[in-house]
Amino acid sequence: MHPRNPYDGPLDFVNLGEAYEPLKMHLKLDPSSGRASIDFKDEEAQRRLTEAIMLRDFDIRLNIPENRLCPPVPNRMNYVLWIQDIVHAHQTQQSRHIRGIDIGTGANVIYPFIACKLEPSWEFFATELDDESYASACKNVASNSLKDRIHVRKASQDGLILFVLDEVSGNFEFTMCNPPFYGSAEEIAQSAEQKELPPNAACTGADIEMIYPDGGEAGFVCKMVAESEKFQTRCKWYTSMLGKMSSVPTVVKCLRERSISNYAITEFVQGQTRRWAVAWSYTDNHLPDSIARIPSIPNKHALYPYMPPKNTLIQTFPGATTAQLHDTFQHVLEPMAGVSAVRAPSTENGDMPHFLVEAQENTWSRSARRNHKRQGQPPRDAVEPVVDTAPADSNSPGLTCSCRVYDGAASDGQPTAAGVEFLWVYGKDRRLFEGFVGHVSRKIVAALRI
Ligand code: SAH
Repeated sequence: MHPRNPYDGPLDFVNLGEAYEPLKMHLKLDPSSGRASIDFKDEEAQRRLTEAIMLRDFDIRLNIPENRLCPPVPNRMNYVLWIQDIVHAHQTQQSRHIRGIDIGTGANVIYPFIACKLEPSWEFFATELDDESYASACKNVASNSLKDRIHVRKASQDGLILFVLDEVSGNFEFTMCNPPFYGSAEEIAQSAEQKELPPNAACTGADIEMIYPDGGEAGFVCKMVAESEKFQTRCKWYTSMLGKMSSVPTVVKCLRERSISNYAITEFVQGQTRRWAVAWSYTDNHLPDSIARIPSIPNKHALYPYMPPKNTLIQTFPGATTAQLHDTFQHVLEPMAGVSAVRAPSTENGDMPHFLVEAQENTWSRSARRNHKRQGQPPRDAVEPVVDTAPADSNSPGLTCSCRVYDGAASDGQPTAAGVEFLWVYGKDRRLFEGFVGHVSRKIVAALRI
């Protein structure tokens, strides 16, 4: 579950019943605990539950049709929060107008409704192929007076999945999508036998909602990858959810075949259920590993080879204190030609300040090599191996790197040595980033004489 997902505990069904009368008749009270629940196999009860949550928590009055998918809100919330993380990673002004596209929005427009309520400055184009779902989506948007922020568009079977980018001018921040899961009706029957549920089927969906005959969800997302090549940076982040772990390698191979190296993979864990999501970009903006990689994924994990390269490098300096490191880091940066460092203010919780470092090109590699010879080895306990960089080519667009002195309290509670965290924020050339990290780390070692 996403750490900011508010539905991390048991739902208070009694309270939801108070907020939404039609749920009340489906509540089953447990007299011993005084708590209530619903029969999760009862599709009508599930529809009323989703309506109740949307009303109580988002002030959205949904009308969920009987013969279409019924989205469980806690699960949909995970993906919206990840999109929020991606958008905020490079957003300096909170009020900036953000436009997103939801592909296959369904009868209930669930992602745009949740996202627009969380983010008052966001606007959506929401596409839908199925006539009935489209009609229902339009009604739900109109009855919630959100037509000026959510524009529902009809997709066509043989048109582009990303057709909105053809029809609407201007740039978009993201696309999101919960694609049709299965490749065929036989696959649905098979997975029913194996009791494998699709990501979007809390209630039974219609075939058109669940089947993409050209390869199921992986086929759908690979088509989107191919289409995105046409639109490039018109949209900053193309994303999709994936319901099957085996779709992750298929989609990553699609990206790598097209040399799209700027991508992210995440995992959502909700109780026993695991889902994945992928994002890719043609821009030179990079996401921190906390957003772009499954956290602490062991290298034996089946998905490890498909993770994107690390954008967060941590160099530890055993024996140094954070205060020493902080001063040394600044002294190392000061004389570096062509490198500017802007200090971001300290946060309220007493964290060391961040530095936003910018360099137009590699001005340090020759001195780094000289330094390397004179000083000997790079820091002994470096968590990440860093490679020395070749001189950047003259077309290098530069580098932006966010740096923070790291206090040594690792997230698993095990104390480690103090260090510096380097986050690749912007740039075309990964070697420039890694070279900068290598150079600064060696200079810090030399200055600390450890
Ligand atoms: N976003 C909703 C629905 C997901 S189900 C939710 O998360 O609950 C997948 C949806 O994609 C269905 O509504 C299906 O009709 C729609 N769909 C399938 N192919 C599509 C296409 N090419 N363009 C737009 N929508 C499509």
